[in-house]
Amino acid sequence: MKCVFCKQSSVSSVTVEHIVPESLGNKEHVLAKGIVCDKCNNYFATKVEKRVLETEFFRNLRFRTGLESKKGRVPPGNALFPKTGCKGEISFDDDSSPLAIKITVDKETFDAILAGKIKQTYIPFNFELPKDNQAISRMLAKIAMEFMVQKFLHEPGYVEFMVDEEGFDPLRNYARFNHKNETWPYSVRKIYNEDEKFFKADGNSVDMVFECDFLGTELGEIYFVIAFKGIEFALNLAGPSVEGYEDWLESNNGLSPLYRQGMGFGYSLTPEFLKSNKDNPM
Ligand SMILES: [Zn+2]
Repeated sequence: MKCVFCKQSSVSSVTVEHIVPESLGNKEHVLAKGIVCDKCNNYFATKVEKRVLETEFFRNLRFRTGLESKKGRVPPGNALFPKTGCKGEISFDDDSSPLAIKITVDKETFDAILAGKIKQTYIPFNFELPKDNQAISRMLAKIAMEFMVQKFLHEPGYVEFMVDEEGFDPLRNYARFNHKNETWPYSVRKIYNEDEKFFKADGNSVDMVFECDFLGTELGEIYFVIAFKGIEFALNLAGPSVEGYEDWLESNNGLSPLYRQGMGFGYSLTPEFLKSNKDNPM
């Protein structure tokens, strides 16, 4: 057995690969041990995903939406005290009921509050979209490669095909090695609010953290599209250009490929905005 990224023998590998990091809400989408070798698995965790999770965007997203790491931790947010240079940390108070937000400050800040020098605090919610971030771009490449493997895992010989097919070399090498130190551009935009409600066919609502799909365009390009809490990212599987995706969006009225009418997508969940307007989605 060979690893789909480095193509080295992976028979002795012992770890399963989480396609989307656990800290971004993925509990169930894993590849069996050996499909991604331990060395690549560890590389992605420490050199790619960790950097993504440290970005302001994903830290804030996880804080705002309470996305826990596998150890059950949610990263803290920041509390600012204008004009003083003091800073505090905000976190969820797990022991309180109902759930509360706790503000922790150092002694200097606390003294300034007691002395009446600080009267207000601000909790910034950063909604700025992360553009041109190399770690995010490479994580998208990694996730795309792995979802492609997972999608056809039941087909005999498919994993071997994915290992041998040179057409996937630019994508896998970019995700795993990036020898040329490139940053493939990706598209990023908001497609719905992060508190959007999602429903299963039986009408029960579920918590949607991420959803994804592949889009083949008329020009023969394939894009991997994934949305985290309503922020949609798209990456071209063939290389560093997203112009084809932008053109596709333009000729499809900005509709997300995740919500093409009549196509299978994500988890077959219906968001509130489609439920209320079923005949004319987006
Ligand atoms: Zn490997």
